Amino acid sequence: MGRIIAVANQKGGVGKTTTAINLSACLAEKKKKVLTIDIDPQGNTTSGLGVDKNMVENTVYELFLEECALKDCIQPSVMENLEIIPSNINLSGAEIELISMENKEYLLKNNLDAIKNDYDFIIIDCPPSLNLLTVNAMVASDTVLVPIQCEYYALEGLSQLMHTIDLIKERLNPKLEIEGVVFTMYDARTNLSSQVVENVKENLNKKIYKTIIPRNVRLAEAPSYGMPVNMYDSRSAGAEAYRFLAEEVIEREDEDAWL
Ligand code: ADP
Ligand code: MG
Repeated sequence: MGRIIAVANQKGGVGKTTTAINLSACLAEKKKKVLTIDIDPQGNTTSGLGVDKNMVENTVYELFLEECALKDCIQPSVMENLEIIPSNINLSGAEIELISMENKEYLLKNNLDAIKNDYDFIIIDCPPSLNLLTVNAMVASDTVLVPIQCEYYALEGLSQLMHTIDLIKERLNPKLEIEGVVFTMYDARTNLSSQVVENVKENLNKKIYKTIIPRNVRLAEAPSYGMPVNMYDSRSAGAEAYRFLAEEVIEREDEDAWL
């Protein structure tokens, strides 16, 4: 049965998109069937997986507004085993249009229920805000994966995020769980990174992945070539790290701990 994972943190620039792209691609590399859904109007996951965001006709925006069928907005990506529902700037005004819709929190869920079992994993890249789009992602998901950047303000905003997840679990999606926390942009040369990891571990009583994503220039370069890092530079430290993360995500699935 497919597992739906929202990659969320309302802070911008913490590595959500990088994680959504490369976790998806590394799961696909391991022969898992993956659907990646971009619900950030910036469309960086879309272009990072080799789809031209300005050329796509049917995006998640049309899906939300019921202007296209689900099957018509699913596209192939640059990777085998990996399909994508793209997004672009059109989505930026969607929140206001959605406000008056019936079941506005369930629009994504109602769509995904029909195809959930066609995939091993559905990975949703959220925008940097706890808005209605993110709520839709969390309502549709089994779990939330939270990237945390190894920087001084790492803990800032996390309690708000956890509170939102609790509220959604209480009111809209009782089965929602924390998938895990993953540290990103770790710089082994600084004490700060390791202090942040220790500090977050002490303060956040959550599942934390053993895999820590290092700061790696290949991860930043790959999107401009429209490729995930395992394709752009298969031997890079970034590719290896996301492969380990994919393994951990798969292992946790095998434990049946989520059912
Ligand atoms: P978010 O989606 O949370 O806003 P991004 O994934 O877009 O964050 O990352 C923000 C910026 O940091 C991007 O330019 C991205 O290429 C870069 N970046 C993300 N993770 C890494 C990493 N591990 N090493 C180097 N650069 C990274
Ligand atoms: Mg992003």
